[in-house]
Amino acid sequence: MSKQEYKYVFGPVPSRRLGRSLGISPIPSKTCNFSCVYCQLGRTTNYTNTRKMFYPVLDIVDEVRRALLEKLDIDVITIVGDGEPTLYKGLGELISELKKISQIPIAVITNGALLCEAEVRKEISKADFVLPTLDAPNKELFKRINRPRKELDLDKITEGMIKFRKIFSGQLWLELMLVKDLNDDDNTLKVLKRIFDKIQPDKIFINVPIRPPAEKWVKIPLTERLQEALRILNAESIAHYDQLLVENIDKNSSPEKIILEITQRHPLREDQIFTLFPNVSKNEIMDLLLQMEKKEKIKRVEYNNRIFWQIKKSKKEKYE
Ligand code: SF4
Repeated sequence: MSKQEYKYVFGPVPSRRLGRSLGISPIPSKTCNFSCVYCQLGRTTNYTNTRKMFYPVLDIVDEVRRALLEKLDIDVITIVGDGEPTLYKGLGELISELKKISQIPIAVITNGALLCEAEVRKEISKADFVLPTLDAPNKELFKRINRPRKELDLDKITEGMIKFRKIFSGQLWLELMLVKDLNDDDNTLKVLKRIFDKIQPDKIFINVPIRPPAEKWVKIPLTERLQEALRILNAESIAHYDQLLVENIDKNSSPEKIILEITQRHPLREDQIFTLFPNVSKNEIMDLLLQMEKKEKIKRVEYNNRIFWQIKKSKKEKYE
């Protein structure tokens, strides 16, 4: 995408499970009702459980229409957000409007918390794929891993997922983020298995924190624990997908703009940044990264024996 600026739409980017995905972010950055310890956006800055009409539905739809006119090779339109997209009050209307302008399947990636609300279940049941996350089998771990807004109740959320399954005829893919020494022991996994069995998703995926997390102490589980989790939950791993090359999504933008756009969504591995710009020397890219660091636009982070660059946080981080 290149001719005009885009505010809500990004990509297409290779999605881990869905192919080439045109992303839509209908919420302001880092707006979430969780502040997960593993979040690659850092700690949540707009920590809220109030659904809002952050932007007009038709403004978002207009952008998608414009992006589709560029005849991009797209497998799926994914509503994802740099935070929790169900906090967007126009979500149901947005999905309906998108269905009017294209036949491309629509996916919603969500932390699943608002599936406890009948209205949200109804709204996202219009999508083709819904991918909620469930990391914790009990309230104590829910608080430690996801740090939810205090009004959110895990039992109501899992009940909501069970109810959603009953009304949703599309593909329901549950995701579990496995974190070392938090939810990777046999007992936790077996209790999660019982909950997942009640929800009856079409697929279960296990991820690990491959990018720098919000909290430095978060670690990737041992391979043996990941294997055991896959076996117990009868799940598929998406833990190896950091090997995917990041695509240069906007060939006409400057390297600085592209780096800023992607790092706003997730930290970028340094070696992947080099592959984004095959016609620019590594030295030039390194100079650019250092200049951007000096201007406090991005920062260098070491994680899991790799170098990442991530956007510099601008707002004060806080919890209620
Ligand atoms: S990982 Fe997702 S659900 Fe958790 S804080 Fe980040 S955006 Fe919110």
